[in-house]
Amino acid sequence: MSSNADIYHEMIVDYSRNPVNYGEIENHDVTFHDSNPLCGDSIDIDMKIDDNHVSDIKFHGKGCAICMACSSVLTEITKGKSIDEARAIEKNDVLGELGLEHLQAVRIKCALLSLKVLKSALYTYMGNHLKDNEDLDKLKEEAANLY
Ligand SMILES: [Zn+2]
Repeated sequence: MSSNADIYHEMIVDYSRNPVNYGEIENHDVTFHDSNPLCGDSIDIDMKIDDNHVSDIKFHGKGCAICMACSSVLTEITKGKSIDEARAIEKNDVLGELGLEHLQAVRIKCALLSLKVLKSALYTYMGNHLKDNEDLDKLKEEAANLY
């Protein structure tokens, strides 16, 4: 086994035992929930939005090691970004952090559930605050076509 694979495996185990940005935001501006029934992963993301920036983000719920690790990485990537930057996060931004680019199809939903929840949360927030419907449809489509 290559040492890279070892390091990534260790990171995933670490994140799943000590998830980053785990918890709830009491006075969140938007929250969203989704689940992956195939595995039993179930994730909520809470966000605080200030000045069109994600000033705080936390997730909670339960999931397998890959789901917890990817949720941790995603919240780390997202925190502090503008809404437009957060919308532009792609699956390989998350998968690449943990060496999961070639994950089997059956586990990809575990890895990308949190990104789907994030995009849906952004969609919900924008729906409540913006009037640009064309932009909104695009975001909804993105979330639906993620996997
Ligand atoms: Zn899973």
